[in-house]
Amino acid sequence: MMSSRLSGAQREGCLSADILIVCLRSEGDASTVCETPLFPKHQLVSKVETVPVEPTQTNSQTQGSTMDLVLNVADHYVLTPYVYPASWPEDGALRQIVSLLVLTNLGAAVLYLGLGAISYFFIFDHTLMKHPQFLQNQVRREIKYAMTSLPVISLPTVALFFAEVRGFSKLYDNVDESPLGWTGLFLSMISFLLFTDGCIYWIHRFLHHKLIYKLFHKPHHIWKIPSPFASHAFHPVDGFMQGLPYHIYPFFFPLHKVLYLALYVFVNIWTISIHDGDYRVPGALTEVINGSAHHTDHHLFFDYNYGQYFTLWDRLGGSYRHPSALMGKGPHDLIRKLQAEGKLGGDRVKVNGHNPRGVPLKEE
Ligand SMILES: [Zn+2]
Ligand SMILES: [Zn+2]
Repeated sequence: MMSSRLSGAQREGCLSADILIVCLRSEGDASTVCETPLFPKHQLVSKVETVPVEPTQTNSQTQGSTMDLVLNVADHYVLTPYVYPASWPEDGALRQIVSLLVLTNLGAAVLYLGLGAISYFFIFDHTLMKHPQFLQNQVRREIKYAMTSLPVISLPTVALFFAEVRGFSKLYDNVDESPLGWTGLFLSMISFLLFTDGCIYWIHRFLHHKLIYKLFHKPHHIWKIPSPFASHAFHPVDGFMQGLPYHIYPFFFPLHKVLYLALYVFVNIWTISIHDGDYRVPGALTEVINGSAHHTDHHLFFDYNYGQYFTLWDRLGGSYRHPSALMGKGPHDLIRKLQAEGKLGGDRVKVNGHNPRGVPLKEE
């Protein structure tokens, strides 16, 4: 099977035969190229096969990865014609690292700001901003904190993406490379969610250890009533550690690279969703899914609901707490109570981290 990513040597070889490169691009398959009447099939086949290929990559390095997929698209449409000089080969390590840094930062900013804005304007209940523990200028502060941390988090993340691009992961390109076909893809999706859910639970609990908490995780708990923009507002070490399970999974387990990309977008959506203040979880799933109501209690009460998608590990680890919002004791209930007592005006209460209205707070 022909690699979707031609090496520099292969491209040089192709460029020496114009008709061949045109056909390669239009058909995307060397075997169909050779049907052109200008070049008898056997001649073109031999031309393709005799192109000298420099031994710059091992077999594993040509397997591809999710970031390889993204790099290919960026190279083809933007980077090769408009950004990098033609003399800089696409497979050069420095060029790949620079490209990965740019793409990772752009991708993170677009996902965070784009999906965060959609959630903020269309899902987040703005009534929550009247809660006594919603800080002054909180949304702006969340965005500023996240946008400062994300570039720092991208540095070690790019090191892992680079290892992927160089072929050290178990990512594969085609469904037929999965031992169980489509069933294998479905199972890898389930195992990705279970693996990352378990890992994040224990990393998150570790970050709450009294010797660690103030160093890295405390900034994420400044937001007692989070908005969707709190979702990525982590200290860089905290953000990287909690993101690590997503990145190491494909180094241990086979995973289709397009599925990996889809899961990566999904985990960003999920992370935003558990901070969006929409406490609804469909019926029986309330007991199983770690939703926004569960995670809000984590922000408010610290020692409960460390999980990401499921309540499984909180139940096993003895840290499950049924969400107060689902028992009539949540943030909305407090807002309604204070409004009924005339203790809350129509405008946002300016508390700046203090509690001027006698609302019980649990401090870390
Ligand atoms: Zn926490
Ligand atoms: Zn959170």
